[in-house]
Amino acid sequence: MSVIYNKVALIGLGLIASSMFWAMKRGGVAGEVTGYARSEATRDTARRIGLCDRVCDSAAEAARDADLVVLCVPVGAMAQVAQDIAPVLKPGATVTDVGSVKQSVIDAVAPHIPEGVHFVPAHPMAGTEHSGPESGFAELFDNRWCLIVPHGADAGATTRLEQFWQALGAQTEQMDVGHHDQVCAVVSHIPHLIAYTMVGVADDLNRVSDQEVIKFSAAGFRDFTRIAASDPTMWRDVFLTNKDATLEILGRFTEELFALQRAIRTGDGDQLFDYFTRTRAVRRGIIDAGQDTAAPDFGRGGPKKA
Ligand code: NAP
Repeated sequence: MSVIYNKVALIGLGLIASSMFWAMKRGGVAGEVTGYARSEATRDTARRIGLCDRVCDSAAEAARDADLVVLCVPVGAMAQVAQDIAPVLKPGATVTDVGSVKQSVIDAVAPHIPEGVHFVPAHPMAGTEHSGPESGFAELFDNRWCLIVPHGADAGATTRLEQFWQALGAQTEQMDVGHHDQVCAVVSHIPHLIAYTMVGVADDLNRVSDQEVIKFSAAGFRDFTRIAASDPTMWRDVFLTNKDATLEILGRFTEELFALQRAIRTGDGDQLFDYFTRTRAVRRGIIDAGQDTAAPDFGRGGPKKA
């Protein structure tokens, strides 16, 4: 694999940035990689585990002379870091981000991008419930989608960023910003909200730590608890910044839930059966598309026996 950007700067050193770093090293797609994290503790950890070729004490120092600057902080922190790096961005450089919401990131970052610097928003559709500099791994993006939202960006800079993500293992697709935010509300944001809610309901009933709940929860409730363990800052920012799309999808979800509630109350087995048959086909489609395995329990093993 050949080098796509000579110098890459990662601003924010959590799950996504650390996975990008290890994937860059695996693919040999970057010359030097610099990094910056807000807290000294995270910077110390990064230095200790060899995350980044050089860990800097300011975002501007990391971004200076970079050919690609990747903003890997929570969506609500994008404006501040964009402002911090703006004075040192070199002409012809590309700034991108990995935020889970795109319209609000564009609104927050674009005003700070100097003339002659390209801004190409992106969103890798890959993650885990873990966060921080030690949670990353090189394979995170393999065969996953990275959505590129050019939003009028230079075509050459956009193509190069797509090549970069492909070298990290991802497949890329360009998407309009509004469409991106709505698709992500459906496939990611609302499912997380439902998981948070379900675990919250169980907690209200004081059943989460109940041994029986854990013991017999198997793939159902246990999967909810895994998703509901995702980073609170990141997810708070997602809902605050993708308000319109998430409220719209939540409205539709609530309508469907009421319809199913009514079917249960009236004993309409046909409606329940037809509904569950339709949703089962969706699952098969995801497996056929290679986005998950057909192995039981989503391919994860249960807890190791002592
Ligand atoms: P993470 O593991 O929690 O890491 C976040 C990083 O951002 C940390 O280095 C943190 O620094 C830094 N940070 C937090 N608040 C900051 C602030 N106010 N100013 C400056 N730096 C700040 O997060 P992540 O999962 O990598 O997520 C990063 C971005 O990727 C988010 O925008 C998220 O929406 C997006 N994303 C996440 C996933 C996922 O599943 N996790 C998937 C796709 C996209 P400290 O460690 O010093 O606090």
